[in-house]
Amino acid sequence: MDVRNVIIIGSGPAGYTSAVYSARADLKPLVFEGSVTAGGALMNTTEVENFPGFPDGIMGPDLMDGLRKQAERFGAELVADDVVEVDLTVTPKVVKTATDTYYAKAVILAMGSGYRELGVPNEKRLSGRGVSWCATCDGFFFRGQDIVVVGGGDTAMEEATFLTRFASSVTIVHRRDELRASKIMQERAFANEKIRFAWDSEVVDVLGDTKVSGVRLRNLKTGEESELAASGLFVAIGHDPRSELVKGQVELDDEGYIEVASPTTRTNLDGVFAAGDVVDHTYRQAITAAGTGSAAALDSERWLADHA
Ligand code: FAD
Repeated sequence: MDVRNVIIIGSGPAGYTSAVYSARADLKPLVFEGSVTAGGALMNTTEVENFPGFPDGIMGPDLMDGLRKQAERFGAELVADDVVEVDLTVTPKVVKTATDTYYAKAVILAMGSGYRELGVPNEKRLSGRGVSWCATCDGFFFRGQDIVVVGGGDTAMEEATFLTRFASSVTIVHRRDELRASKIMQERAFANEKIRFAWDSEVVDVLGDTKVSGVRLRNLKTGEESELAASGLFVAIGHDPRSELVKGQVELDDEGYIEVASPTTRTNLDGVFAAGDVVDHTYRQAITAAGTGSAAALDSERWLADHA
């Protein structure tokens, strides 16, 4: 039986950074990148301006290509396949794709999280061209412009309030006539004179040729449709951590994020570590994912040294 030192599941900033560190520690990591989305969430965006070290910004796919090459350069073995089943409770740990079974002493979980999409016609096409899921990442691009935020929870209020630093107006589109957000977040949004509300409404399409020029709204009470001009659409209707694979083995919190013994990346299972957005409710940035990815590699390296 070929037992690897460490298997890394996921190929975003967390997974590839773990791979760089593990490979440089001569652990010869095996990385499962996923069959269709190798490179993670940043493959779907254009300019990344807040990753340190790139004063002129860098395109998301170029950043991920660089990280991937860096991992390969030090001897990480990359497999463009999905892990479909694991048993992390046995020694060695078992990791399966649709066709093969692999074994490892340690496993790093870095499967990321998916931003919920509206599922309207032009949303994907205009992603990174005015449609965004991250105000911290993209707010800066919308100085002096009109923005639409979709959602009624704390995240939507926080994003909308943050975006008023840049935008001339922010319209919050919400399906109901009251918000789900906590009272304090609501009050903050109501008190902000740049924020308006489109109640009982949903976005049914995103308008624009090469970039967003507006949204089509439907009033859910009257059925009436209207167009609202805007150059940015921020979708803030939630995230789903990709933790289904390890459910029932690794401890998850109420929302499905993997629980770790912070500030380490240790999970409840010996020799299993987790990093990036599959753990992180709060920051969800490429640099924080890369940071915890490096921590997971270092934690696993020390664990392997103790369990040689
Ligand atoms: P991800 O990047 O989500 O990568 C996880 C990877 O693991 C995916 O490729 C997935 O397919 C793979 N995977 C999952 N399950 C399996 C499995 N079972 N088998 C094999 N592979 C699997 N952050 C910034 O700091 N700056 C920005 O400008 C910025 N812009 C963004 C723009 C967009 C449109 C989006 C969606 C996000 C943006 N972010 C930005 C956030 C940033 O992309 C994420 O915080 C970061 O990518 C999280 O990294 P991660 O490694 O945890 O997960």
